[in-house]
Amino acid sequence: MSLQTDTIAAISTPTGPGAIGILRLSGPEAVPIAEKCFKSLGGKGLREHRPRELVYGDLLDSGGQPIDRVLCAYSLGPSSYTGEDTAEFQCHGSPMVLSLGLEALFAAGARQAGAGEFTRRAFLHGRLDLAQAEAVGDLLEAQSREGARHAAGQLAGALSRKIGGIYSALVDVMAHFHAVLDYPDEDIDPFRLEELDRTLSDQEGELNALLSTCGRGKLLREGVPCAIVGRPNAGKSSLLNAMLGWDRAIVTDIPGTTRDTVEERCELGGVPLRLIDTAGLRDTDDPVEKLGVERSRKAMEEAGLILVLIDASQPAEEEDFALLQEAMALAPTILVWSKGDLPPAPIPVVNMELPATVTVSAKAEDLDELCQAISCAFPQDLRRDYGQILTNARQEEAASRARGAVRQARGALASGVTPDALLTDVEEALQALGELTGQSVREDVTDRIFSKFCVGK
Ligand code: GDP
Repeated sequence: MSLQTDTIAAISTPTGPGAIGILRLSGPEAVPIAEKCFKSLGGKGLREHRPRELVYGDLLDSGGQPIDRVLCAYSLGPSSYTGEDTAEFQCHGSPMVLSLGLEALFAAGARQAGAGEFTRRAFLHGRLDLAQAEAVGDLLEAQSREGARHAAGQLAGALSRKIGGIYSALVDVMAHFHAVLDYPDEDIDPFRLEELDRTLSDQEGELNALLSTCGRGKLLREGVPCAIVGRPNAGKSSLLNAMLGWDRAIVTDIPGTTRDTVEERCELGGVPLRLIDTAGLRDTDDPVEKLGVERSRKAMEEAGLILVLIDASQPAEEEDFALLQEAMALAPTILVWSKGDLPPAPIPVVNMELPATVTVSAKAEDLDELCQAISCAFPQDLRRDYGQILTNARQEEAASRARGAVRQARGALASGVTPDALLTDVEEALQALGELTGQSVREDVTDRIFSKFCVGK
């Protein structure tokens, strides 16, 4: 992969007015270009200040006219985000200022950065490996606190270190077999063979553990699909609204990709949820109601968690429990007695094993028990080993290939094949692990990864 010789520039903050807007430069000419577009108030040139020092001054257009009063800093490669020389202007967050500023940087010799090009350069210069670069994307798109924490852990190198451990153990195995190849007449000591098999088996175990995290990665990325079902008037819409209102700061609307509904995202009990929209259905006349029932069924079939609502203020009916039974057969289910602020009706005796049961009041915004129950339903995993999980299909595929090759190597060792055949397997495992961190990855794959980033990142 060739290193870049040109200097890129972009607006790195979101579009629209804001307190601060950032213009970013990276490349061999970053500092001279920044200098051409900047006049410090103290009168010293930018490079007369130390790298990373924030310098107060004017951002200038190509005619030398001030565009904004800004803070400017530069860093010198390799100690910068991209590993190249970089400069950054912290401007007022005005779209017009930023666009004029960017024009000035172009006039001074920079070109527009492509999507993810800053992070791509960081990867090319070895400042981040591929797993870390993917974590940057995950961090930007995190939909839940836990998702953000895992991405931060991965960015800090937790996954890379884990993979690095496996990689280095396999390199030891390979080194040993290379040595054996050099002296083909000498038999491998049986004790050594056992030791090698143990190393391979340990690495297989590590890869198994890593691959078992894929489900968690998917949950963090996509949220647990959660269906809220119950009879008309059970309080489904009210609960949905209360759940969304619970932590408004991280609620987002995600238009459904495969159907016309809007799926609501929220986080409850530390678990990212994707609420499947059955609650929004209004029961009117028959045909619509029928459709509602069908959609509830479909939502239950797709769900990773079902909340079955029964109105605690009304006598429960047989069909409530029939629905509960149906839900329990499909996914982890929580029985939610709704309207807990009203005087309760007597609870009928039912002849079935009940799932986790909680009382909520959407009206009083009392969802404490529900939060706890959801947290208990997904206890394990989301809140530990931050950053040490596989979060996308590319990582899963590479780890799975590595595991396959390690297994094959163990099989080969057991059946006494020649060291050169075994070496091929170990090399294949190393290649796959290298793809995970980007040590050995094809350029089209990295292109695809970085093209998903936004411009300016
Ligand atoms: P859905 O048909 O299951 O979606 O039920 P809704 O959420 O539309 O609620 C039906 C009725 O119950 C409405 O009149 C709500 O105001 C009322 N309701 C819902 N939740 C509560 C609650 O927690 N407490 C009280 N007192 N009333 C509630």
